[in-house]
Amino acid sequence: MNVLVINCGSSSLKYQFIDMTSEEVLAKGLVERIGIEGSILKHQTTGKDKVSIEQPMHDHKIALQLVLEALMNSEYGAIKDLKEIAAVGHRVVHGGEAFSHSALIDEHVKKAIEDCIELAPLHNPPNLIGINACQEILPNVPMVAVFDTAFHQTMPKSSYLYGLPYEYYEKYKVRRYGFHGTSHKYVAQKTAEILNKNLEDINIITCHLGNGASVTAVEKGHSVDTSMGFTPLEGLIMGTRCGDIDPAMVTFLMEKENLSTAQINDVMNKKSGVLGISKVSSDFRDIETEAEKGNENAKIALETYYKKVKKYIGAYMAEMGSVDAIVFTAGLGENSSSARLAICGGMEGIGIEIDAKENDMRGEEKVVSKPSSKISVLVVPTNEELMIARDTLEIVKSI
Ligand code: AMP
Repeated sequence: MNVLVINCGSSSLKYQFIDMTSEEVLAKGLVERIGIEGSILKHQTTGKDKVSIEQPMHDHKIALQLVLEALMNSEYGAIKDLKEIAAVGHRVVHGGEAFSHSALIDEHVKKAIEDCIELAPLHNPPNLIGINACQEILPNVPMVAVFDTAFHQTMPKSSYLYGLPYEYYEKYKVRRYGFHGTSHKYVAQKTAEILNKNLEDINIITCHLGNGASVTAVEKGHSVDTSMGFTPLEGLIMGTRCGDIDPAMVTFLMEKENLSTAQINDVMNKKSGVLGISKVSSDFRDIETEAEKGNENAKIALETYYKKVKKYIGAYMAEMGSVDAIVFTAGLGENSSSARLAICGGMEGIGIEIDAKENDMRGEEKVVSKPSSKISVLVVPTNEELMIARDTLEIVKSI
């Protein structure tokens, strides 16, 4: 049984086509610049050459049609007939309080996704566009929505409420939702597997450190707290997002710099984070290179970032009472040995002993703590697409 995984952004469409018997990726690709000049599809079937197809794509439906044509191409495709697509899994960013699990897409589910647009105005609309385009082209194929927020719906009220008047939660559903749920769930499951333990018996802190970044406390397989909040702006310092700040600074800066709400939002989302502090780049590779050359702003950006991750690890250790493993994933978490070393360094007294030699690698699935470490430290490359495909298969199998 083959599952097509779709992740639609406002002008992009990422996809993976996965054989669920072997869990092998048969083909994958990316369409960029949908609806703008220079639309391009980059497709690769496993074991075959990569192809780039440049042609105008006015909307997601045309882009998807081209993706399906590429999948069926006799030269560089992976299948002969659309019937070989058994199901489609769609990544949907926000499921609000309506979805604690993935859901088979019907009109009711689409309406609920639409109702969440207010909570994710940049993400849910393209997700819905992708679903509609797929349904038009593949009307008889079952489709499943997999939500970034769903894994965190197990958080207790004490984790998701803010210190604001309760009526705002009642009226506007202002609360912590958390994001990257599919990734946190995947690496938590994988960590239990690697440690040869039942997920239900252990507590894990999952650190998804990419361009966007979040830390989650996973108690016995359930998210009990996470650093991103009402939006993906809260929590860690990120590539360009500020993360936690004193909320009073928002109005202070608006007055001082004469900024509108749109402008201050832009500052906090796109001009802050390690880019804002370092004045170098939002990419950690550039900042690490500059820091090595002695750039003080680059150095302090990294130090501030590491300290923030440390603080969340400490907070979640206190919250869960005991922790069995800390796991690093996503761009920085998987690839930067120096970031992992700096974050875990100096925590020997609380049971975290990272092994500098074992940690000196990138992109491998591996335990990087010393055998004597009370808390295991792991690196697990994330695989959100596989998680989406697994959920899709699970739901489609039961209909
Ligand atoms: P992601 O959002 O998971 O794709 O992560 C992207 C981010 O990971 C990039 O912006 C980089 O900052 C970081 N990254 C990727 N590779 C490396 C690397 N080899 N060393 C340090 N940071 C990296």
